[in-house]
Amino acid sequence: MDFALTEEQQMIRKMVRDFAEKEIAPIAQETDQSEQFPWEIIRQMGKLGLMGLPFPEDYGGAGAGTISYAIAMEEISRACGSIGITLAAHTSLATFPIHHFGSEEQKRRYVPKLASGEWIGAFGLTEPDAGSDAGGTKTQAVLDGDEWVINGQKRFITNGSIADVVVLTALTAPPLSPPTLRLCSGQALGGMKGGGTRGISSFIVEKGTPGFRPGRDEEKMGLKGSITSELFFEDCRIPKENILGNPGDGFKQALATLDGGRISIGAMALGLAQGAFERALAYSKERQQFGQPICNFQAVQWMLADMATEIEAARLLVYRAAWLEDQGVCFTKEAAMAKLYASEAAERACFKALQIHGGYGYMREYEVERMYRDQRLCTIGEGTSEIQRLVIARQVLGKL
Ligand SMILES: Cc1cc2nc3c(=O)[nH]c(=O)nc-3n(C[C@H](O)[C@H](O)[C@H](O)COP(=O)(O)OP(=O)(O)OC[C@H]3O[C@@H](n4cnc5c(N)ncnc54)[C@H](O)[C@@H]3O)c2cc1C
Repeated sequence: MDFALTEEQQMIRKMVRDFAEKEIAPIAQETDQSEQFPWEIIRQMGKLGLMGLPFPEDYGGAGAGTISYAIAMEEISRACGSIGITLAAHTSLATFPIHHFGSEEQKRRYVPKLASGEWIGAFGLTEPDAGSDAGGTKTQAVLDGDEWVINGQKRFITNGSIADVVVLTALTAPPLSPPTLRLCSGQALGGMKGGGTRGISSFIVEKGTPGFRPGRDEEKMGLKGSITSELFFEDCRIPKENILGNPGDGFKQALATLDGGRISIGAMALGLAQGAFERALAYSKERQQFGQPICNFQAVQWMLADMATEIEAARLLVYRAAWLEDQGVCFTKEAAMAKLYASEAAERACFKALQIHGGYGYMREYEVERMYRDQRLCTIGEGTSEIQRLVIARQVLGKL
């Protein structure tokens, strides 16, 4: 067993940390308060190769693997959660399914542009009536000659209104053959209520396609520099070949995509927790009460000790799940565990970081206030904590 990062992984951490500290951290507060999407930073990240880290060089990626990607997610989120979630949705939710399930032609057309950051990607699974029960999709796609005609609505889509490419799920008309993919991740929610999962397919829709229009961008509690949108499809016609894989494969593809996405959100939570911890640690040494720094008080020390321990445990779970993905073995359970633990550890860490700041932590001027709001998404997005427990329980009970 070797816990050391490779030289390449260490180099990527250093490169991303330097970039995040120099370019992202100084604008993180302003990005939150102005609620402006940080286009300039995203362009710079594209130039640095950060928008396509895990994808092969053949398709314009950096070929750096999932651990390096998780490290990058952690380092970026340590500085700014909004940029973290933007990268997560772009990479693990939009580019991944095209690269993993797309035809050679689809991969050549989309992955290089996404990996370079020239195009932004989004993933549309959630609908007004289909959240945790993603199989309850109502959006429909009907084949009409050489085109699919899509009608429906998606909600809460990260990067939705700015995306150049959206990967979305929709019900395709019966009769349908059973899913042809055999992925262990597809077993995770098998048997849940929500019927019709075998009739779900995935499609690629490009910005500007007639009948596809973004709705409003949501006003959120946190991650205010990221974009979360409604998407509408009204008789939206796309070429027949824009389906990903075969009709009926979409639900399994979505579950496999979410497996990787959970490593992303786990890494994002880890970065936010680490950022909040470091700020609390520094503050506890500076802030004097009763004639001494507050870090001298055992109550504060114990909060710091708990934070440091839980962050380290979260890091091990996230990196291990990433390592399993790189080994090409099933990582459904481990990704759910990493996401569940890291997101709940981040919630506790950000709570304690704010507590250590006392009243100052409640003020918008202090970064822990932003991090406290930003981390809240991590126990919800890409499957709530309850759904992670359901996935893990099914795996440990052998109810696959
Ligand atoms: C900022 C943000 C960004 C997002 N980005 C995207 C995106 O890019 N793409 C996308 O497709 N979606 C995205 N989402 C949607 C997100 O994945 C869903 O919000 C999430 O899966 C929960 O669905 P829901 O909001 O409909 O809640 P619901 O499913 O309605 O859940 C409500 C409550 O019921 C509980 N619950 C539901 N079912 C069960 C069950 N079987 N057992 C126990 N408890 C249960 C849940 O845990 C939760 O506590 C985003 C959401 C947010 C807030």
